[in-house]
Amino acid sequence: MPDTRLPVPVEPYGVFVALAREVHDRTMNGHHDEALVLADRAEAIAAILGDERAQLMIRQGRMYALLALGRLSEALVIGQTLAEDRQLVGPRASQAKALADLAELLIKLGRIDEGLHWLARATTALDLAPHDSLRYFSAICSVGDAAQAAELYELADDCARLAADALAVDELFRAAGRLQHAEMLLEWALRLEQVGRATEARLRLDRSVALMREHLKAHPDAPLATAMLALGLARTGRPDDAIVLIRRMLLPLRAAGQTHEVRLLHLAYGSALRALGDRAGAHREFTAAQELAGQTGQRLIIGYELADLAGERAPSEATRTMKATLREQVGHLWRQRLDRRLMLQQARRRAELELDRERAEGVAASDALTGLGNRRTFDRRLGELHGGTSLILIDVDKFKGINDAYSHGVGDGVLRGVAEVLRAHCREGEVAVRFGGDEFALFLLADLPAARRIAERIRRVVVRRDWDELVPGLRVTLSMGLAAYSEGMTGSELFDRADTQLYAAKRQGRNRLAA
Ligand code: GH3
Ligand code: MG
Repeated sequence: MPDTRLPVPVEPYGVFVALAREVHDRTMNGHHDEALVLADRAEAIAAILGDERAQLMIRQGRMYALLALGRLSEALVIGQTLAEDRQLVGPRASQAKALADLAELLIKLGRIDEGLHWLARATTALDLAPHDSLRYFSAICSVGDAAQAAELYELADDCARLAADALAVDELFRAAGRLQHAEMLLEWALRLEQVGRATEARLRLDRSVALMREHLKAHPDAPLATAMLALGLARTGRPDDAIVLIRRMLLPLRAAGQTHEVRLLHLAYGSALRALGDRAGAHREFTAAQELAGQTGQRLIIGYELADLAGERAPSEATRTMKATLREQVGHLWRQRLDRRLMLQQARRRAELELDRERAEGVAASDALTGLGNRRTFDRRLGELHGGTSLILIDVDKFKGINDAYSHGVGDGVLRGVAEVLRAHCREGEVAVRFGGDEFALFLLADLPAARRIAERIRRVVVRRDWDELVPGLRVTLSMGLAAYSEGMTGSELFDRADTQLYAAKRQGRNRLAA
């Protein structure tokens, strides 16, 4: 296929992104099995058509469906490859998201150390990402989920606030963020109640109620929001209000198979009935909630409610002992959070140190004026050549004249402008360097004919570029020498060939390419 790359940004996803969106939509709406079936077909199609980006997104959708179904080991296999892929290429925010998803899976599988290690990296990457894209928002949500999985509720709360403030996000995403936030606050509150911190629990419950009231103003009767509002009301002394909501929603949602919402409604109902003194009814509702909890972290919370209730219904020495033991257990689990917070802090410090080192290496390998690679990068790259590489050497024509006629500052501006054009023509794995005064080089992953087309395009772009901002009427031209690497060639041989061509281009009158 001819290499006809344009110096314009491309869509972040592939052509068949619609297929991938379908998979995500299904799983976001709770139809995880359907999402998996669709993912099989969509991935096969995207693979046949060679749309790698869509494939990546479909795999991500499959991972979320598996996660929701509790098929954690299968999800982990995908999560690991996605994190690897993203670390090599994706933008920072996508890296952060992939790492946070991986962290969540590991934490849910009980591999806490590893999970926190990746969570720390995710937060470090997130700090460096531009804060104004949907990607950023989406990454914060994933970090929040991972934090919640580790019961690091404070971090999850920070994430939810950041997400609410994220720019460039429309109401649809804000709404999703609010729901996630409220759910986290409820879980946090219930855990706080269990360890006897009622006042703090109450604050979180109130916040969750306020969030859901706000949400329902914009989306009346939204099922998940209504269920969460009911739970919040039931546990903050308003059981009658809660029951009105629950009676309205329970049957239709049950009929629609919305298990998640139905489980919350049973939990809310149980809480409301208990507050009203109906312990038998509460027992029935908590049991129904427990049956729907599957393998989720909610089991612990509901299990505690049931045990607590049993003690109230049949107070005896035995139930008192049981409750004391349970309390101890819950307290122990809660204290483990502190260890996790410390572990995360340490992991973050390690991640930051590593980043500092990477940065220092980056500075040492880059050219201060243009930000391209420098002589060191050039030498290193020349030492690790492989088949399919072409080298273009580029020299600005009569550059001394520009310096002399205008100023050194104008000369610098020209070098920066040329660098910008070269950078725009680099794809993944390709490198542009400035290895001397007005001398540049481009390592392309392209054969000779393709590299020739790219070089010609660069030459034309520079000639036609508007340099008026530097000096009205300024004209800049380049001479270029091109050579393709072939098996057995040394780096300096390749350089000599390209250099000979560059010399030929200059001799033939400049503003041209020789190959
Ligand atoms: P030719 O067409 O033959 O290449 O002519 P030329 O004038 O471009 O000749 P040459 O490539 O030898 O000139 C390079 C000039 O670049 C000489 C030097 O003063 C200038 N130079 C080197 N580094 C810098 C820099 O960082 N900034 C600026 N403005 N000029 C630089
Ligand atoms: Mg020159």
